[in-house]
Amino acid sequence: MLRQAVRTFRTTRFPEISTRWATTLVACLLLSGAGACAPPAAEDPPASPPPAVPVELGPDADAAQAVITPEVLRAPIAELSADAYGGRGPGSDGDRMTQEWLVKELTAIGFEPGMPDGSWEQPFDIVGVESKATPVWSFQAGGKQVDLAWHDDYVASSGVQEERAAIKDAELVFVGYGIQAPEYDWDDFQGTDVSGKVLVVMNNDPDWDPELFEGTRRLYYGRWSYKYEKAAELGAAGAIIIHTTPSAGYGFNVVQTSWTGPQFEVPAAGEPRIQIPAWTTEDAMKRLLAAGGHDLDALRESARSRDFVPVPLGITTSLELTNTLQRVKTANIVGVLRGSDAKLADEYVVYSAHHDHLGMSSDKSAEDRIYNGALDNAAGVSQVLAMGRAFAALPERPRRSIMIAMVAAEESGLLGSSYFAKNPPVAAGRFAANINYDGANIWGMNRDVTVIGKGKSTLDGVVEKFAGEQARTVKPDQFPDRGFFYRSDQFNFAKIGVPAIYLDTGTDFVDREAEWGREQIEAWEAVHYHQPSDELVDEWVWDGIVADSVLGFRCGLYIAQQDAMPTWTPGDEFEAARQAALAALP
Ligand SMILES: [Zn+2]
Repeated sequence: MLRQAVRTFRTTRFPEISTRWATTLVACLLLSGAGACAPPAAEDPPASPPPAVPVELGPDADAAQAVITPEVLRAPIAELSADAYGGRGPGSDGDRMTQEWLVKELTAIGFEPGMPDGSWEQPFDIVGVESKATPVWSFQAGGKQVDLAWHDDYVASSGVQEERAAIKDAELVFVGYGIQAPEYDWDDFQGTDVSGKVLVVMNNDPDWDPELFEGTRRLYYGRWSYKYEKAAELGAAGAIIIHTTPSAGYGFNVVQTSWTGPQFEVPAAGEPRIQIPAWTTEDAMKRLLAAGGHDLDALRESARSRDFVPVPLGITTSLELTNTLQRVKTANIVGVLRGSDAKLADEYVVYSAHHDHLGMSSDKSAEDRIYNGALDNAAGVSQVLAMGRAFAALPERPRRSIMIAMVAAEESGLLGSSYFAKNPPVAAGRFAANINYDGANIWGMNRDVTVIGKGKSTLDGVVEKFAGEQARTVKPDQFPDRGFFYRSDQFNFAKIGVPAIYLDTGTDFVDREAEWGREQIEAWEAVHYHQPSDELVDEWVWDGIVADSVLGFRCGLYIAQQDAMPTWTPGDEFEAARQAALAALP
């Protein structure tokens, strides 16, 4: 009975009271009446349950990771970035070849189909909209006509999945950053009705105060997609983002490339949409505003305040796009290595990498029309496959299961991981963690590694542990202004509450000057990022890729072996989604 009495007392009324103390109290009450008992003096605080003893990795892991070699990493990159794959554009022949090749490779490595219906593929439809814009976009400003030239001054695409998108005699309104963020007491719209207008908006988010929008670290508010989503939500007809390299995080050449050719999306489902999302260069916008009697710098200065209100510019415009629509199918490829623990095998460490790239340039006169996407992201796919090989090489399966999700259509807006997250093969609460690979370190061995998403979860400690074994330090996003956490597939896993990181190259290279690493990465980005020249070349150095793959393997194995799953940092923007996902589990 005693035991019973004690347990009931403790658990129902004072869950935090330690068993030992409750026993004393009940005994007292039974023996001598209420008044006589005083709590024993100087009691230690109730002990929280002893921390689970971490399950360390043994020699089996060391032996298994030896399968991760430069040759094993190079082969899939050479395969998938070959011209024969045509740049792996979504829904293309190259896309289908990639999917087939991935299924063969995962089968050969020893994985099983990962979808509940026993298949490898998670197919979904996407709609490609290719817009034919007029060579000139005309504006009426200050009684004059101002013309912007397609490609050189502006790019635009269709916001609707219809054969025609159009803006007619719409007025331009400058809306600063175009952000509504109640948590920062920031509202660039102040109740202004912008329906039917064309918004002129700055990219990025306020970056001058660490307390405001986390200073230089770009939040989702600072992403171009947020600008268009907000404009659509408020009923605008169109939105023009002013391009500057610092506020975009890349040159206008990337905008030109990414916004030419078919733009793929998941099929429209009645959500609000603008007719025409567009970009102009800073110079073109300066020219246009000056014709209307406005100064861009003065407008931007006025936007750096909570008191900012939208500025009608007195400039009007019309634009019509004729669109070619194509509805195609692509697919995520999902494989599983079933875990060994009766209970924990129903939980998964999921590795992700996008298998798609930009396909072929629509410019038929171009010398090299194929976006081979060797670094972006055949290299990420290859690292994940190499880790899969290491898991399959273990004499005993890890306790939790290992899932590999090669997601599609990332370049079109993280579409594959978005579809996966909305239709997960297992409940979101069963994912212990997501480790995403996008790109790779092709410049040699470094003394550090970058964790995109550092500071957001207990995954940091895991990476620090195993990077430490490699005598490497773990650094947060080295380009926080670029908003990388929101620019690759881990973002969609995080959105459904899965603690997620993107393991990226460090910048502090062995036997190199301190700045050498950043210079190499920035030089590569300026020349090859999203360009046909992103190809596998002999200059690639493999030590760093091997080390980053071994690191990812050891981190995932460690997570798969622990009693408890990783957690978000208390108060993190994705913590609530995690709690909801765990609460939803049966
Ligand atoms: Zn990528």
